[in-house]
Amino acid sequence: MGTKDRQIVEASGINLDELITLLKKAYADEWLAYYQYWLGAKVAKGVPKDAVVAELIEHANEELDHADKLADRIIQLGGTPILEPSQWYDMANCKYARPDNPDIRVLLDQNIRGEQCAIEVYTKLIEFTKDRDQTTYHIVLKILQDEIEHEEDLETLKEDILFSTGWVK
Ligand code: FE
Ligand code: FE
Ligand code: MG
Repeated sequence: MGTKDRQIVEASGINLDELITLLKKAYADEWLAYYQYWLGAKVAKGVPKDAVVAELIEHANEELDHADKLADRIIQLGGTPILEPSQWYDMANCKYARPDNPDIRVLLDQNIRGEQCAIEVYTKLIEFTKDRDQTTYHIVLKILQDEIEHEEDLETLKEDILFSTGWVK
């Protein structure tokens, strides 16, 4: 027995198991992205630290909101969000970048790479759901818009730092 929404999604010809797996993989990405931002904000050092920390905290909260939206949709579709945090690593599309260098320039670069990976993940999910599952399509489209904004925000901070202090690799 399924909900009406699930019946409509299944009738669209979409592979529901595959869709749920893709959403669970994105869900793993979001938790790792959340932690990477959250911890990065704790350890960050450099100038302008306050602006970078504020942006990292804002993004951490938005990644957690993405995880929330994905979990709700996975459950609506009859799936179960990942129950074991240890599986986040196995299921994630994007690599977790340990913030072991507190230099804000290094943290920004790590998180920019994470956003670029997220943009690829959600672009694929949009292609997968387009014209087949309108609800998931709209959820992942909104998340993609956030990820694009995240990358842009970090690139802007990076440019400001580069302009004023020089960039070190
Ligand atoms: Fe996200
Ligand atoms: Fe993001
Ligand atoms: Mg932002």
